[in-house]
Amino acid sequence: MLVGRLAPSPTGLLHLGNAWAFWLAWLEVRSAGGRLILRMEDIDPARSREEFARGIRRDLAWLGLDWDGEAPPQSGRGPAYAAALDALAARGLVYPCFCSRRELRSLAGAPQVGDAGAPYPGTCRNLPPEERQSLAEAGRRAAWRLLCPDELPWSFRDRVHGPQSFTLADCGGDFALCRSDGVFAYQLAVVLDDLAAGVSSVVRGDDLLPSTPRQLYLYSLLGGRPPAYAHLPLLLDHRGERLAKRHASLTLHSLRAAGLRPESVLGLLAFLAGWRAAPGPVAAADLLPGFGWSSLRPKALILPEKPFGL
Ligand code: GLU
Repeated sequence: MLVGRLAPSPTGLLHLGNAWAFWLAWLEVRSAGGRLILRMEDIDPARSREEFARGIRRDLAWLGLDWDGEAPPQSGRGPAYAAALDALAARGLVYPCFCSRRELRSLAGAPQVGDAGAPYPGTCRNLPPEERQSLAEAGRRAAWRLLCPDELPWSFRDRVHGPQSFTLADCGGDFALCRSDGVFAYQLAVVLDDLAAGVSSVVRGDDLLPSTPRQLYLYSLLGGRPPAYAHLPLLLDHRGERLAKRHASLTLHSLRAAGLRPESVLGLLAFLAGWRAAPGPVAAADLLPGFGWSSLRPKALILPEKPFGL
C-alpha cells in the first residue's frame, strides 16, 4: 500500500505554498487508496512551537485535507536518531567537525546550492586525532558530519522533473547529521522517520531536490528502501520570490480571517497549475478523478500581485 506523509515544520503558520504541497501529497495518496500520515517536524527546539502545530492541523482540516494518524513528532525521537548516529560512527562513517558557522561561511564563500547551503570544504575531514582531542579539550563543541563519496553519482527518477543525477559533491559535500549544539539534522531525521513509518512516497517542494541524493546515500547506509519522489514546482510571488514571513497576508490563517473559502484558495492553485481555465472554486477532492503526475509541468507557479484581490 502506498504510504505518504504530510511533514510540516511547526515554525510558523502555513502559507499558500504549503497548501499547494500538502494538497498534492493528499491527492496522490487519496487517489491511490493509500495511507497518509502527519508528522510534525519539530526537530529544532528553538524554532518549533506547539501553537504552530495546532494551527497547522486546523489549517489542513480547513482546506479539506485529512490524514490517517499522526507519527511521533521529531522532538520525541532523539534516542532513535542518536542510536543511528552511533551506529554510523561505529562504522567510521562520521567525523567531528569543529568549524563554526562563521568559519564555514568565510572558507566556502560560494553561492548557495539550493537548500544545501554553502558547500563544505572538508576542513575537518582529515584532522589528526591529536588535533581533534586538543580542540575538544579546549571546549570546542563538534558537529558530526557524514563522510560522503564525492564523485559517485546518485540517480533517481523524479515523478515531476524526470531523471535526475547528482554527486554528493554537487550537493555540498560532507553534510552534518548532528549540530554542535546537539540538535539532529533534518537529513538524518527525515530518513529515519520515513523508514520507521514505512513511507513509500515523498511529495515536497523542488527546493529540496539537492537533499534527495544525501537522503538516498543515508538509505543505502541504513539499509532501507527509499521512497518514490515527486518534487513540486514552487509557488512564488509576483516578483518570482519564495513565500516567506513577509508574506503574512498569504498565510491560510490570514486568508480565512479575510473571509476566503478554502475552495477559492484551491481554485487559484488549480488555475495556476494549469488544471483549470479560470480560478473558480475547487474542493480538495475535485481533482481526485484521474489525478496523475504527468499533468503537472515542472515550472514554478507565479501568484498574481494581489491574489484574491487582497
Ligand atoms: N519539514 C520540511 C519542510 O517543512 C519537509 C521536509 C520533507 O518533506 O522532506 O520543509
